[in-house]
Amino acid sequence: MTETVVGAPPAPQPYSYRRSALHEPDWRRFPGWAQVSGEEWRSAQWQRAHCVKNVGQLQAVLGDLVGAAFYEDLAADVGGQATMSMLLPPQMLNTMTSGTEPSGAGSLTEPMYADPVRRYMLPVASDRRTDWTSHPYASRDSLHEQEMWAVEGLTHRYPTKVLAELLSTCPQYCGHCTRMDLVGNSTPTVDKLRFVGKPDTRLADMLDYLRRTPGVRDVVVSGGDVANLPWPRLEAFVAALLDIDNVRDIRLASKALMGLPQHWLQDDVRAGMGRLASTARARGVGLAIHTHVNAAQSVTPLVAEATRAMLDAGVRDVRNQGVLMRGVNATVPQLLDLSFTLLDGAGIMPYYFYMCDMIPASEHWRLAVWEAQELQHGLMGYLPGFATPRIVCDVPYVGKRWVHQVHDYDRERGITYWTKNYRTGIEHEDPEALTRQYEYYDPVHTLPESGRQWWRTHADPT
Ligand code: SF4
Repeated sequence: MTETVVGAPPAPQPYSYRRSALHEPDWRRFPGWAQVSGEEWRSAQWQRAHCVKNVGQLQAVLGDLVGAAFYEDLAADVGGQATMSMLLPPQMLNTMTSGTEPSGAGSLTEPMYADPVRRYMLPVASDRRTDWTSHPYASRDSLHEQEMWAVEGLTHRYPTKVLAELLSTCPQYCGHCTRMDLVGNSTPTVDKLRFVGKPDTRLADMLDYLRRTPGVRDVVVSGGDVANLPWPRLEAFVAALLDIDNVRDIRLASKALMGLPQHWLQDDVRAGMGRLASTARARGVGLAIHTHVNAAQSVTPLVAEATRAMLDAGVRDVRNQGVLMRGVNATVPQLLDLSFTLLDGAGIMPYYFYMCDMIPASEHWRLAVWEAQELQHGLMGYLPGFATPRIVCDVPYVGKRWVHQVHDYDRERGITYWTKNYRTGIEHEDPEALTRQYEYYDPVHTLPESGRQWWRTHADPT
């Protein structure tokens, strides 16, 4: 046995924790924003009006700091593989290449290519895989949420929880969006689904369903992003939820807390959230915000300020549900840096990292289940237990499973088998729902050659 040495320095560790200060990069380093004032930058209206929606607008901001080849690469993706249209608030664009001082024409080309936020918010054609661009079983609504709509836009997948998709827009569009079937504008490759019902009727139908379904206690209010719903309508919907006795948890989903923190800092939003939070507290309901941050550099002082504003308004918690993506955050140091920055810098609870779902053209982002298991192992022991994020796989027709819950694993073909302990809303009559094994697929390019060969002969990879 090793003798204990009192006073010895701490043991060297695979990951070294250092608290680091948050950083709001100076937007005036970009030619197109050289004259933008601090007051304009803090304005939600200014941010929304100056979102980048196409290659030309990006060029107007970055100018020749980025070379022509990058813009061409981006245009090729927009016209070719992109499943989401471009929509980038200045706040998010400003966090790209945040550690690099531009020093002349072309100086930001390489940093832009390498940037983790750029990699998922502004995908370029050369990012995508050319061998297996999509998994053979990739699909537009890969989680089958629409099949489980109890009323239009209300997914009832778990016994006690529902997902309410109030709207199909966001202040920012992410290249990997799992709801790419529904959210955002159509792209050259994806003609988006549209809600049929009128917005007010759909929301009323959702509330009606929840009033007559006392087994539901937890409502994720989402979209899209609730930051795109005019505040009075969001407040009215949440207030109506608070009137339903069986609803005990309400989670508001907004990536904009990070992508457009200016929205959550507006006076009317803060005051309205204060009203909702005080009603929630009086009724013993947990009202929380769930946001979506994938890289530590996205957590800026403004994001921390907006989070603090919501916590001060009385929201019980702000939690992060990130998405695990190769090239963005798929290393232990990146995930720990992000988690510590969220927790220490902004008071946001690291909660989940989802494996990127099996949507079309996502194979360059997706990880194999065994890679996710290794990352989960690497995360353990550094963060407080209550703030250690779980890495989860959203298995079609099952729901979230911790990545170590896999029942069986064919490593050669990259097929994992999962079980579940409840019926989704469409399995009333299915006698095998609780005994069946449900499949999920690793990216083909991560398989051994024998596995890749199996898929070549069993599926058309295009
Ligand atoms: S904010 Fe969420 S819903 Fe909106 S595009 Fe991004 S991932 Fe999709």
